[in-house]
Amino acid sequence: MTSRKIRTRIAPSPTGFLHLGTARTALYSWAYARHFGGEFVLRIEDTDVARSTQDSVDQILASMQWLGLDYDEGPIYQMQRLSRYKTVIEQLIAEGKAYYCYSTPEELDAVREAKKARGEKALYDGRWRPALGKTLPTIPAGVQPVVRFCNPPDGDVTWNDLVKGPITISNREIDDLIIARTDGVPTYNFAVVVDDWDMEISHVFRGDEHINNTPWQINIFNALGAPLPQFGHCPVILGDDGQKLSKRRGAVSVTAYEEGGYLPEAMLNYLARLGWSHGDEELFSSEQLVAWFDGTHLNKSPAQWDPVKLLWVNAQYIKQADNTRLAGLVSTQLAKQGITLDAATVENHLPQVCALLKDRCDTTVALASWAAKFYSDVTPDAAELAQHVTDAVRPAVALLAEKLSTCAWDKASIAAAIKEVLAANGLKMPQLAMPVRVLVVGTAQTPSLDSVLEMCGREKVIARLARA
Ligand code: GLU
Repeated sequence: MTSRKIRTRIAPSPTGFLHLGTARTALYSWAYARHFGGEFVLRIEDTDVARSTQDSVDQILASMQWLGLDYDEGPIYQMQRLSRYKTVIEQLIAEGKAYYCYSTPEELDAVREAKKARGEKALYDGRWRPALGKTLPTIPAGVQPVVRFCNPPDGDVTWNDLVKGPITISNREIDDLIIARTDGVPTYNFAVVVDDWDMEISHVFRGDEHINNTPWQINIFNALGAPLPQFGHCPVILGDDGQKLSKRRGAVSVTAYEEGGYLPEAMLNYLARLGWSHGDEELFSSEQLVAWFDGTHLNKSPAQWDPVKLLWVNAQYIKQADNTRLAGLVSTQLAKQGITLDAATVENHLPQVCALLKDRCDTTVALASWAAKFYSDVTPDAAELAQHVTDAVRPAVALLAEKLSTCAWDKASIAAAIKEVLAANGLKMPQLAMPVRVLVVGTAQTPSLDSVLEMCGREKVIARLARA
């Protein structure tokens, strides 16, 4: 087992966007493979034909790319491997390890009800399971059979889970599961085994909702004579109400965070830390994650999604981010608000705006709503206007407008003009700065006034001061 090449995979079902939980498992699988110099595979589990969509596939691929989770193989689509599953199923049937089951849904319901009434677990009754000396029922006409796997009737299945430690589930708790539906399409528990076997997956990280599937999968691996991967089941992510994080409780897709102005490296950092730790490290790069992530120190208990901490992490990355890169992201956000900037502005002006504002913004959306003040008109709040733009300061504002209309347009000259106005009117800085800020950018809290005015540009500043 230890000599196997490290190969991990993520196997999302394209029935929706990439869920944060799946993204986190993908991240662990990726980091584990990268740490050990192994390979990481992307497999699309699209056998639920009714619910799988190309749009979901596209979103999953885009989210993987956005997070920087590069894969060495894939995407491999299960629906393109149907003939392979068919071959393996036929082989299992031929070996007496799987069988056709013609029980109708009504019969199965009746069995289930009867078992429940007797206080037993509602498992399949094995009616069609072949056994030495057993006479099977007559095959009914017009019933398309499913294929069931001959699960061992007793004994235990035990594995040493990479996250949870030793787990044992009795075979008496599980029944002969359906491995192929009436249309021949394999079920998840079967296709996953054939794939993990064929793709030589050595380590499976996935959500702990799959723990109860694992005994079946281990039994199928054994029936096929295939080497077992090691399993690691990560606990669910909880929302702040202590319930499983779900769509009803806020954004759960990676895409939503991309759109919400989070940086991928912040997301990757936060997701990795949610359920895993390396000492007290809170901020780390993907390179550090790869260097540290060896499959240990994964939390056994569920992690709680903490939007405030995520914002804090994002803010740290925004502070460090290159201004030109931020400008690109902010211009996309601005475009969504209907503000389109020409290429020269995005290249030359917006990076300076980002540099000025990034310390006070925790997302690129927040950065864009600040930047918008420099590129589109602002409507100051009436109460703020009344509070700050008083008769006492109007003459000073007018004098400042006059000086700013002729001074050189750079930070030092603007600062000098402000100083002269303060001296001429016997005012202190805040007495002038507050009304000017409210008039020019619509809010009394801004970075240094000279920088803000410089960024805003002479024309806009003069026009906005004239509204005093
Ligand atoms: N398609 C399954 C899911 O999305 C994959 C589970 C697994 O990793 O085995 O939950």
